[in-house]
Amino acid sequence: AQHFLARSQAHPELGAYLAIDEDATLAQAKAADMRLAAGTAGALEGLPLAHKDIFVTKDFPSTAASKMLAGYRSPFDATVVSKLADAGVVTLGKLSCDEFAMGSGNENTAVAPVGAEAAAPVRNPWDTSRVPGGSSGGSAAAIAAGLAPAATGTDTGGSIRQPAAFCGITGIKPTYGRISRHGMIAFASSLDQAGPMARSAEDCALLLSAMAGPDPERDSTSLSAPAEDFSLQLNQSLEGLRIGVPAEFFGDGIEADVRTAIDAALKEYEKLGAKLVPVALPRTELSIPVYYIIAPAEASSNLSRFDGVKFGHRAKEYADLQEMYTNTRTEGFGDEVKRRIMVGAYVLSHGYYDAYYLKALKIRRIIANDFQQAFKDCDVIAGPVAPSVAWKIGEKADDPVANYLADIFTLPASLAGLPGMSLPVGFGAGGMPVGLQLIGNYLQESKLLNVAHRFQ
Ligand code: GLN
Repeated sequence: AQHFLARSQAHPELGAYLAIDEDATLAQAKAADMRLAAGTAGALEGLPLAHKDIFVTKDFPSTAASKMLAGYRSPFDATVVSKLADAGVVTLGKLSCDEFAMGSGNENTAVAPVGAEAAAPVRNPWDTSRVPGGSSGGSAAAIAAGLAPAATGTDTGGSIRQPAAFCGITGIKPTYGRISRHGMIAFASSLDQAGPMARSAEDCALLLSAMAGPDPERDSTSLSAPAEDFSLQLNQSLEGLRIGVPAEFFGDGIEADVRTAIDAALKEYEKLGAKLVPVALPRTELSIPVYYIIAPAEASSNLSRFDGVKFGHRAKEYADLQEMYTNTRTEGFGDEVKRRIMVGAYVLSHGYYDAYYLKALKIRRIIANDFQQAFKDCDVIAGPVAPSVAWKIGEKADDPVANYLADIFTLPASLAGLPGMSLPVGFGAGGMPVGLQLIGNYLQESKLLNVAHRFQ
């Protein structure tokens, strides 16, 4: 823990951490030492890990990278945080992300990182002029730069897989409901899912085993499927494995350098005994408009709790209650968050609900059905995580639609609630890492991790 704290403090230029508290970390490390000495060690005893600042924590501030929650302290730990603590994990601090997890480049952040005066984007350690991806950009950058051996992330539409790909690390978004959402600051509740990010599939398997499991008292959408030991299947042979390759993931949108790296990875899998089979995901393009209706709709509802009354920021100047709400939300939310709240309120409003929201829900179901059709012919689906490598900081900052379009390959699995992961398979333009995406059927995390591990 001391090693990673020192490294983290030595690299403020990456902007990866929003909170470090040496005393809190070392107190946890001491408790771990005592459990090790007493022979009561958990499965991950003493492992240092940092949490995305979307998970609430008692020992550190919890901000979701928003002014709305700057300096906020939660009275309780998220289930993910307490489960990892029960396994012996020592918390290194809180990691930057896009505000309320809305973004693809970790540029939408409103809280100053450790060692900085003002809010700043996270930088990609492979090339600090580029984004690390988002929204779990702090998690991916910290692992890639050796500031933490592992981290938690959340993925609503790609926020674990895409930053993992951009920073050359491994991350898995499990089946929706595998991991409790209790204490995860909500963005879009029907899509939000936590997951581990680390240097390898094996590390992810060990972490996922500690994070997963039912939480019926606190998250009514958590699945009843018991937690598994996700490391048991890692060494299965891939002989005869059918890898589905959707043509829609290899069309015009994908850049040539990414395509070359992905094609080479698929060849590697053939050498390992797998068979490539063509599958169709014909509604891939529609996943962008569908997601950018459903996610903002849910966000507009979830974020209504930030009204200046119970917690978080409250405007100093106002004449009456209505003005207090308005000024608080005007000051507290960043531009992208406001944009989502407006889009969400619009698509849910009378007269537009049927035209937009309800239609999006129907297409979401068709997208899920398309996957079930594809899984009749294959065991896992493989393709790129993103159409390009990490872009330059600022390049897409003023263009929300350009950011949304870059999510095309991660959104389909999110809308279907399927597990998906990213593993580093090569390099593209500018020597930047390229990630291969593996998508499995429901509850097939062990299979995905096995397929990734054999490559690594
Ligand atoms: N980039 C997507 C968005 O901005 C996904 C974010 C996420 O998965 N949290 O909504």
